[in-house]
Amino acid sequence: MIGSKTLMWHCDVCGAERADALVDVVRHDFSADFGFPAGTISRNVKHCKDHLPCVAGALDRERWRIIKRGSEVRS
Ligand SMILES: [Zn+2]
Repeated sequence: MIGSKTLMWHCDVCGAERADALVDVVRHDFSADFGFPAGTISRNVKHCKDHLPCVAGALDRERWRIIKRGSEVRS
């Protein structure tokens, strides 16, 4: 065992602090938005796995989209 303290995470959707066992992660890949190979730019969204609105919120790709900064990417 690694320590006795329960690992806690903040849900990125509702902000609640939850135990590790109750948190899941959705990975959104935005690499194509920037013209990079898949896996280059992504965002992990932690969410309550037992709370449907949090699951739905985490799966909403547009909500977590990484915005291109004007001077950063030119095409
Ligand atoms: Zn939540």
